[in-house]
Amino acid sequence: MFPVIEVQCPFCKATGQIMAPPVGSIIVGPCPRCNEMVLLFNGTVMPLDKDIISGGSSEEKKQHLLETIVDMVAIKVDELIESGDVGQESKQNSRRKSTSGKSKKVAPSVSDKGAPPITRQDIHDFVHIDLHLIDSKSYFDKVFGKKKRER
Ligand SMILES: [Zn+2]
Repeated sequence: MFPVIEVQCPFCKATGQIMAPPVGSIIVGPCPRCNEMVLLFNGTVMPLDKDIISGGSSEEKKQHLLETIVDMVAIKVDELIESGDVGQESKQNSRRKSTSGKSKKVAPSVSDKGAPPITRQDIHDFVHIDLHLIDSKSYFDKVFGKKKRER
C-alpha cells in the first residue's frame, strides 16, 4: 500500500493525489494543469516563481527555494505557537539547546531566548540576513546543528 497525499496547486487550485515522497525530500516541479512551478515539501505545496526557477542563476534559485521553505515552515511554527503546545512538555533544557548561543560571533536576527513568537519580519530578516551567513560553517552548525552538544 502506497501512502498517498492530497495536494493542491496554489495557483490554479487543481487538486490531485500523489504518492507521498520520502520524508524530508523537496520536490520542485510544474503543476500539470497550469504549468506554474510549485514546491512540495513535507506534504505542503508552495508556489514558486517560475521565472526564477527556470531562468534564474543558481544563487537566485537557492535563495528563492530557501525563502519559500522558510516561509512554509514559519507558517507551521506560527500554528504551533498559537496552538499553545510549545513549552508544555519541553524542558528548559531543550529550549536552550535550540538557541544555543553562548559564544556567537555573528549576530543572527533572532537570538533572544525569551523572544516573542517569530514574526513575518523575523522571517524576512532570516531569509535576507541569516541565510547569507549559512556559508559560514560555524554559524550553520550553531543554528542547524541541534544535536546534543555538551561543552
Ligand atoms: Zn496549477
